[in-house]
Amino acid sequence: MMRGHNYTLLTIYQRIKWMFCATFAAQMTEKRLLFLLFFACALCVGRVFARKLPPQAAQPFTIVLDAGHGGKDPGAIGKTGKEKNINLAVTLAVGKLIEQNLKDVKVVYTRKTDVFVELDERAAIANRAKADLFVSIHTNALPGKAQGRGSETYTLGMHRAADNLAVAKRENSAIMLEKDYENRYEGFDPKSAESYIIFEFMQDKNMEQSVKLATLIQKQFRSAGRPDKGVHQAGFLVLRATSMPSCLIELGYITTASEESYLLSQKGVNDLSNSIYQAIKNYKANKQ
Ligand SMILES: [Zn+2]
Repeated sequence: MMRGHNYTLLTIYQRIKWMFCATFAAQMTEKRLLFLLFFACALCVGRVFARKLPPQAAQPFTIVLDAGHGGKDPGAIGKTGKEKNINLAVTLAVGKLIEQNLKDVKVVYTRKTDVFVELDERAAIANRAKADLFVSIHTNALPGKAQGRGSETYTLGMHRAADNLAVAKRENSAIMLEKDYENRYEGFDPKSAESYIIFEFMQDKNMEQSVKLATLIQKQFRSAGRPDKGVHQAGFLVLRATSMPSCLIELGYITTASEESYLLSQKGVNDLSNSIYQAIKNYKANKQ
């Protein structure tokens, strides 16, 4: 009867050692062999664990909602209302509709209360969140006795039309309330037309998708009975620094009495927020 082999770990190790030593006689010291075996084992264990790790979950469709102005920056001022409050009411209502109805969408807010947030920080929030969309919500104003009615949506781009430049200048002026804005925005002067020349040379890879979203928003505003002021391009600092499709909505004119009362009414907030929500929903559906 043959004597049974005792295959303890030590025996296996000694056999492997013998085989290796026979092959590489002089070169293979015991230390090297131990290192080699340890390395091989680590490789095998690593592979097993790598296979068992769950696949990385894909990030949900993320949208950043940006209520313009806030805190020490009231934005445009009407007879009784302030732009910052209208923007926030509509923004929170849009977010609520998304959270209630589009469970696979993540909503990130640049502000949920009456606080001041710098323009570049708003864009940074969107970039850090790796957002799919950035929607900035504002309220329009006209100087003097000029009257305006309706909603319009902007994407970043050509600013040449004098009207668009006026809107961009007004919205960008928010940076003048920021500490050290000259350095933060590399000498950009929101009030000087010359500063806007930078926007003419900008290549915006998200232009097409941004215009698509803006067009969908305007379509919904029209359906809700709002006068359609169209889709435009202008040099908005808050859109310049975002790296995803983005647009800026001007809900209506706080300086026109009938518009102001509409913007401050529950019906106004409901209609406007629902229009923006429907447009976002349609945009997302078209992308899938
Ligand atoms: Zn504004």
